[in-house]
Amino acid sequence: MEQDMEELSRLIDTADRVVLFTGAGISTESGIPDFRSPGGVWTKMAPIDFRDFMRSDEARRETWKRRFAMEDTFRQATPNRGHRACAELIRRGKATSVVTQNIDGLHQDSGIPDSKVIELHGNTTYAHCLDCKQRYEIGALRVDFEQDNIIPHCACGGWVKTATISFGQSMPVDEMRRAEQETLLADLFITLGSSLVVYPAAGFPELAKRNGASLVIVNREPTGLDRIADLVLHRSIGETMGAIAGVE
Ligand code: NAD
Ligand code: ZN
Repeated sequence: MEQDMEELSRLIDTADRVVLFTGAGISTESGIPDFRSPGGVWTKMAPIDFRDFMRSDEARRETWKRRFAMEDTFRQATPNRGHRACAELIRRGKATSVVTQNIDGLHQDSGIPDSKVIELHGNTTYAHCLDCKQRYEIGALRVDFEQDNIIPHCACGGWVKTATISFGQSMPVDEMRRAEQETLLADLFITLGSSLVVYPAAGFPELAKRNGASLVIVNREPTGLDRIADLVLHRSIGETMGAIAGVE
């Protein structure tokens, strides 16, 4: 192993409580594009703000059009070596939780119990009514949308949206609280595949560092927090974390 990987291995061996903090970059090797890589989604289109979603049919239609266009990608994606490495560190009891910005459900699919995956930005693999919280399945909504031009809405009159947190929408209170608790207890905080520019999520690695934990960043490109990290690995996640956790 090269020196930076040896160093990360050593930090993991000597840590008592590791928190794994993941972003879209851990899922690119499963075929789901991220936002901020060169050529990523946002180099092509701006995000739709939650307030616009609530205000206009046009914004709702565009939001759902984009979501359905991604459906085959999300449905077919399976966990990759990076997800399996996280699952292995959790299984060994070395890592206590995965705090994720991802909305694809792949950490849970890799075998990590739901109780140990903290989703900061929700989940896009299903939808719910914003008023009564009734759950809806994406596949059924898509048929109505594509065949009958129906914008997803609930029997109660509420709008139906994927169970994700959009820009302009408030953060989930319970998940934020649990992520903070886990961060404050960690002695090693490892971020995997996040550009670390989206707040409040990117506040957690900062908090860990201020609280005395070691901070490690694994990301192909430079991130917003490289300058405060104890160790930065500009490497691919699957290969790097797979070798370190000893999984294929
Ligand atoms: P981001 O797109 O801002 O940054 C991803 C980072 O990962 C980039 O800096 C890129 O260099 C790096 N990267 C990509 N593939 C990598 C690999 N294989 N190995 C190492 N590094 C790699 O992602 P973000 O910080 O998570 O912010 C995007 C927001 O969009 C998140 O809040 C998330 O909710 C959402 N999102 C989620 C998904 C998903 O669930 N898979 C996908 C796209 C966007
Ligand atoms: Zn409803």
